[in-house]
Amino acid sequence: MSSDFAKRDLNVVWHPCTQMKDHETIPLITIRRGKGVWLEDTDGNRYIDAISSWWVNLFGHSHPVINAAISGQVEKLEHVMLAGLSHEPVINLSEKLVSLTPPGLAHCFYADNGSSAIEVALKMSFHYWRNMGKHRKQRFISLDNSYHGETLGALSIGNVALYKETYSPLLLDTLIAPSPDCYDREPGESWESHSRKQFTGMEKLLQQHADEVCAIFIEPLVQCAGNMRMYHPVYLSLLREACDRYSVHLIADEIAVGFGRTGTMFACGQADITPDFLCLSKGLTGGYLPLAVTMTTDEVYRAFYDDYINLTAFLHSHSYTGNPLGCVAALATLELFAASDVLGRNRELAGQMQNMTRDLIDHPNVADVRQHGMILAIELIKNRETREPFPWQERRGMRVYQYGLTRGVFLRPLGNVVYLMPPYVINDDELAQVIRVAKEGIDMAVQD
Ligand SMILES: *Cc1c(COP(=O)(O)O)cnc(C)c1O
Repeated sequence: MSSDFAKRDLNVVWHPCTQMKDHETIPLITIRRGKGVWLEDTDGNRYIDAISSWWVNLFGHSHPVINAAISGQVEKLEHVMLAGLSHEPVINLSEKLVSLTPPGLAHCFYADNGSSAIEVALKMSFHYWRNMGKHRKQRFISLDNSYHGETLGALSIGNVALYKETYSPLLLDTLIAPSPDCYDREPGESWESHSRKQFTGMEKLLQQHADEVCAIFIEPLVQCAGNMRMYHPVYLSLLREACDRYSVHLIADEIAVGFGRTGTMFACGQADITPDFLCLSKGLTGGYLPLAVTMTTDEVYRAFYDDYINLTAFLHSHSYTGNPLGCVAALATLELFAASDVLGRNRELAGQMQNMTRDLIDHPNVADVRQHGMILAIELIKNRETREPFPWQERRGMRVYQYGLTRGVFLRPLGNVVYLMPPYVINDDELAQVIRVAKEGIDMAVQD
């Protein structure tokens, strides 16, 4: 029985991003099996994983190709340290990533989760400027409403108050630029025009602070944890140009949006830019194993490359850096991209998502339906005319979540934003079920 597992769990497991007291009223679901888009709990109930298990899963659960890659590797080498030693999976994966990512990214530094990949980029950028004799560069710019992870460096450059505020006494002093997020654009204004306008705030910050700034961190196109707020690729083009002009690094955090999520393999591709650093994790292993990579240019790499006694090396490590099982899971995931027209199929699915949610645009409690490829977000609102939001204390999104569970769909809204971010292997019927249930859940959740 699920309830036995739940009881044992709640005795000893402290769950992430959870007020544990909620589980006095909201049941904890113990999953015993996953196959494709389906999750099955210990009572045999099935749910479609409509949010790809926190955005990590690309090709469904328990995929035969990824399973085989991991089982094969486990017989050969489960793990070995990556200082002084190397192995074929990490070499193959690095070559592959260099060939797939925007031109100019030439070196791969591995970590084991997204936040750590951000810390690597942060330290590397700072250290690069130091190695170049630019000792004044010690600060970072990021966007309002951005999210880059939970470790202290990553939290410092993020700006979602819910996660950040409590810890603010512990954090780096970051410069925050206005977000290009298009939710608050004027009625009738285009995304492009709004995102362009928002750039003036960034330009001003750079004018004032460029000589003390190492880098700008950005989530290309979608601020996922910041309630799936979205913007136009023109902002990325403007930012790339400005970073060059002011000698500031551009760090693209594609931990959530990389690997086809927004319609192109990498979101930076929609603006045809190459960042100075690219952070990847989440979908990197298809949602199987914790692995992350920070990629950078030859120019950055060369600033560290010198005789040991000059002490310019990047002396940073994690025990599981470049874990072989993670690397073969990533290689198998990239094989799946090569084996069929995944991005083409995603375009079809994205079109269906758009068509099937079109009527929500007129819903009295929907403020916005927005989409970049395989991410579609529906923002609920108390009053459309006055743009008065539902008070957060009412937790309307939780009602959608609970309704979904009774109808075989696992959704997990962010505040008042219901979003769909399904695995790429979802079929038409399953997608229709997800959207039908999300709509029913919304109708129910907005009632008093
Ligand atoms: C999830 C996420 C991170 C943090 O990754 P973790 O593996 O959870 O530490 C960083 N940036 C973005 C954009 C993310 O979505």
